[in-house]
Amino acid sequence: MINIEANLNRVRDEIAQAAKVSGRNVTDVELVAVTKTHPAEIVREAIGARQVVFGESKVQEARTKIPLLPSHLRWHFIGHLQKNKIRHALPLFEMIHSVDSLDLAQAIDRIAQEDGSHPRILLEVNVAGEGSKFGFKATTLRAELESLLLLSRLSIEGLMCIPPLAEEAEASRKYFVELRELRDAIEKEFQVKLPQLSIGMTNDYSVAVEEGATLVRVGTAIFGERRRRNTGL
Ligand SMILES: *Cc1c(COP(=O)(O)O)cnc(C)c1O
Repeated sequence: MINIEANLNRVRDEIAQAAKVSGRNVTDVELVAVTKTHPAEIVREAIGARQVVFGESKVQEARTKIPLLPSHLRWHFIGHLQKNKIRHALPLFEMIHSVDSLDLAQAIDRIAQEDGSHPRILLEVNVAGEGSKFGFKATTLRAELESLLLLSRLSIEGLMCIPPLAEEAEASRKYFVELRELRDAIEKEFQVKLPQLSIGMTNDYSVAVEEGATLVRVGTAIFGERRRRNTGL
């Protein structure tokens, strides 16, 4: 049996340690516990260990799971969002980490106008230019940022990335640095504030915290291995 409370406390300790060594305030880092593929009972164990912020990557799964759980929880959407699921996603999630195209952002803005919401979003950047991944290329993001900023319903709060899979946490560092530097450059160029950096998963969240993560998305280190078929990645 895995001990979710012990796992959560270990992850929290490591986040605190990474914040400390890099001179950051631990309260500036939010742990998003990624519950995709795990049933509501498992989520309840994490709630018992004082976890409040959770991540899901499929709207359909979230629509069945979230209503089974206490309403004080805060849910973040971290997967690829299909346009025909936006209407269902908006009322469920306080933040969408994974807005990966102008087209999607415009569709979210349109639906938010209809339902009266003000979605908080992050822009996903395909940092390594992998063909298999969603996300803006850095050049595309710069080219489309003015258009993104015109979407008046959206609160664009920062950037997110998923670096290439690697065994070594250190392999992710250069991508996290790249994303942070892209963020810093865009803030200057466009006179905007993008305070959030959603970086870091089970394999590399300590490195992510060292490089400025404000949100880390951790699943396996808390809940154990997922069944492969359902990884959602
Ligand atoms: C599944 C998932 C995670 C969590 O991954 P772990 O390696 O299990 O911590 C984080 N971010 C995204 C976008 C995911 O899909």
